Amino acid sequence: MTVESQKETLGFQTEVKQLLHLMIHSLYSNKEIFLRELISNASDAADKMRFAAVKDDGLYEGDSDLRIRLDYDKEANTITLTDNGIGMSREDVVQNLGTIARSGTAEFLKQLSGDEKKDSKLIGQFGVGFYSAFIVADKVDVFTRRAGAPAEEGVHWQSAGDGEFTIEQVAREKRGTEIVIHLKPDATEFADGFRLRNLVKKYSDHISFPVVMKSEPTEEGEEPKDETINDATALWTLPRTEIKDEEYKEFYKHIAHDFEDPLTWSHNKVEGKLDYTSLLYIPARAPFDMYNRDAPRGLKLYVQRVFIMDDAEQFLPLYLRFAKGVVDSNDLSLNVSREILQNDATVDSIRTALTKRVLDMLGKLSKKDAGEYQKFWDEFGTVLKEGPAEDFSNREKIAGLLRFASTHTGESAQNVSLDQYIERMKEGQSKIYYITADNFMAAKSSPHLEVFRKKGIEVLILSDRIDEWMMGYLNEYSEKQFQDVARGDLDLGDVETEEDKKLKEEAAEEHKALLERIKTALTDRVQEVRVTNRLTDSPACLVTGDFDMGAQMKKIMEAAGQKVPDSKPIFEINVDHPLVQRLESEKGDERFNELSAVLLDQATLASGEQLQDPGAYVTRLNRLLLELAN
Ligand code: ADP
Ligand code: MG
Repeated sequence: MTVESQKETLGFQTEVKQLLHLMIHSLYSNKEIFLRELISNASDAADKMRFAAVKDDGLYEGDSDLRIRLDYDKEANTITLTDNGIGMSREDVVQNLGTIARSGTAEFLKQLSGDEKKDSKLIGQFGVGFYSAFIVADKVDVFTRRAGAPAEEGVHWQSAGDGEFTIEQVAREKRGTEIVIHLKPDATEFADGFRLRNLVKKYSDHISFPVVMKSEPTEEGEEPKDETINDATALWTLPRTEIKDEEYKEFYKHIAHDFEDPLTWSHNKVEGKLDYTSLLYIPARAPFDMYNRDAPRGLKLYVQRVFIMDDAEQFLPLYLRFAKGVVDSNDLSLNVSREILQNDATVDSIRTALTKRVLDMLGKLSKKDAGEYQKFWDEFGTVLKEGPAEDFSNREKIAGLLRFASTHTGESAQNVSLDQYIERMKEGQSKIYYITADNFMAAKSSPHLEVFRKKGIEVLILSDRIDEWMMGYLNEYSEKQFQDVARGDLDLGDVETEEDKKLKEEAAEEHKALLERIKTALTDRVQEVRVTNRLTDSPACLVTGDFDMGAQMKKIMEAAGQKVPDSKPIFEINVDHPLVQRLESEKGDERFNELSAVLLDQATLASGEQLQDPGAYVTRLNRLLLELAN
């Protein structure tokens, strides 16, 4: 009986075309990784097969010996990879080998610059996958049949990687997938038994399934026999002492769909009340869609060595979504589903333990290699900053992992830890000071830092959008309180001498009338006017009340269309400043009011905020300038 073939030609989705182009041009010096990607897919397919057969072992069709075959043909210049995994239906093929399903891909690819060097870095954020076959192939054939489907529902897909593919129904006795790579003239080196064996050893030694090749012909002319050329035991099941760093790295690439090495990893077997193994990795680079809340995240879940699902997100909190890895539990049931995972006590306990593991792994990295830790921070720091709010119980640990820009280094790089800060604290200093602003420059030149500069006290500079919100969840670290330098009464602890304090009180007394006059002049715009201990060079500054919302938070809430609580700032005056002294001697009320308003507007600008009525400010200032000129 012949199967009606219905051969169709379809175009690749635009994103696939772009990705193919990028891959072929940026990975030509790294050609061999195609084999890892295809074996990785075959192994995933075998994992899925085994999982499907847990419910219905009829799907095995009498063949439960899951394996991957690798053949080559030197004359024909082909490599053929065959698996007896889950296989694909026609729709699966069109979907998987014709499109990229991840949302945000189009936007990601728009960043391509055409500069191959730059673009090749981008591909690391993406992962290469099946399409990497076209790094070495000028034509690829895929024959496949989904497990459980009738033999005549096989599919033949073919493409030269040039924009379109054909798809046709064919008969396939056996389930699973066969991929034939027709090697490009500059890639014929791969049609070689020795080379292929080496590559499988190098890249795929510890996937869970055997990779089988025919033995090479011998001089005695023996019949070739099947040989398993990889170790074929899942890496995480081996004792740590038996695993080389290289093997850990290759395994990471297999599970994380990444082709760069991870920064670090942690492998643990837990026995006792809970019984599970985890192998967790920190990638070196953030994926392109890290801030997309629907992007895939989580660990690969196995139960008693059987693959259950990808992206099991219940095992780590959201702020650790960059971590990748495997968890293999002996306590969960093979029938476990996402719904069950959501409220399962075992899962909760594992999650608590794995959260600690990731935090400890990061702590260890930071101690062992500050440079490597910095790489982590630069990629994932803003995600970790979600931690204090999400995970109250680990606040202290998370805080220890944070890195900040600081007045001490004077550079915008976030590379100062709280421990370093505490080590450098001044005698008599009991608080950790920080300033928040829209950007580093604005913070760095803020008048609020004047007294700190004078006293030589370090201030952490926080200018990420999330910072003020995060600080709302951090009260102290190492028993030292955090203090926003622009908030409330500034307490400099014992760094401020009794003398300083006395002078400030006296000044407040002496200039009481001035303060009241300013308060009257600005009555709608400030909640209080007082003498400052913050300033040395500027005439005035704005301070947020202890319990009022900070400027950055207000902006975030406004941008989100939320109602922002109404609160007026406190206006602090430097009574030693000539401008303030000039103000004090001003007799005319109108002029006094003008000058007060200008001082307030300037203080607003200096703290990086926008004026509510910039036009009025300019008019006032010009009027004063003209008077000067006359
Ligand atoms: P990824 O492995 O990251 O999902 P790939 O580009 O490597 O991306 O593969 C795309 C999809 O094609 C896979 O998710 C899988 O659904 C399907 N696929 C690829 N190779 C096979 C195979 N040998 N057997 C079954 N399905 C496969
Ligand atoms: Mg893949």
